[in-house]
Amino acid sequence: MGDTTGPSASKPSYPPGMVLGPDGKPCKPCTAFRNWTKSKSPTGSKTGGGQGSTAAMMAAFASGTGIKSVPEPDAPPAHCPPDVEQLGRATWTFLHTTAAYYPERPTPNQRANMLNLLHSLPTLYPCSHCASHLGENLKDHPPDVSGRVPLSRWLCERHNDVNERLGKERFDCAKTDERWKDGPSDGSCD
Ligand SMILES: Cc1cc2nc3c(=O)[nH]c(=O)nc-3n(C[C@H](O)[C@H](O)[C@H](O)COP(=O)(O)OP(=O)(O)OC[C@H]3O[C@@H](n4cnc5c(N)ncnc54)[C@H](O)[C@@H]3O)c2cc1C
Repeated sequence: MGDTTGPSASKPSYPPGMVLGPDGKPCKPCTAFRNWTKSKSPTGSKTGGGQGSTAAMMAAFASGTGIKSVPEPDAPPAHCPPDVEQLGRATWTFLHTTAAYYPERPTPNQRANMLNLLHSLPTLYPCSHCASHLGENLKDHPPDVSGRVPLSRWLCERHNDVNERLGKERFDCAKTDERWKDGPSDGSCD
């Protein structure tokens, strides 16, 4: 990715917004796609790249056709590696859904497996700065794996800690089942 010609040949240059990983190399799952892509939108502003921009425009044209899911305009095109946001959304989807279907009365084995899953994230999650924040957070807030409801609540609070750190709105944890298991009462997800 870096410039390999000219006087700075030995020092690769990365896009200014690219976050480097612990190895000093560009870390795509640590960085938002808009901060590393070289693609420009038709208006000249930076966007989620050629195919992503087209998809976003097509989605805009498709609005009103009943199609509800539209691609994120800033997301990497489908054939590209995930950025920090895509990876985050996918991971939260997996974790919240897994918590929503966790047993009300888990066996010791199920509790141990859930603890292993959650405690593995600070070492395995590929966004290194996210992983290290999570590791610190888990020290202050050990997972409650005693049942489906307390686990979903605990996870909602950890997600809210991240939301707060990123300057996003907190989610109403009373709505966790509605969001991740039952869908809204208006039946729009049935
Ligand atoms: C463990 C972890 C740590 C992360 N740390 C960082 C970080 O340090 N820096 C960074 O830039 N990104 C981080 N991310 C990614 C970040 O949390 C978001 O996933 C990303 O910014 C995309 O955000 P989003 O607004 O699309 O929705 P997301 O935050 O991904 O949420 C997806 C959906 O979950 C629902 N939701 C939101 N909050 C809650 C909640 N509290 N409980 C239940 N459901 C909820 C909403 O419907 C939302 O649309 C992390 C992700 C994970 C999994």
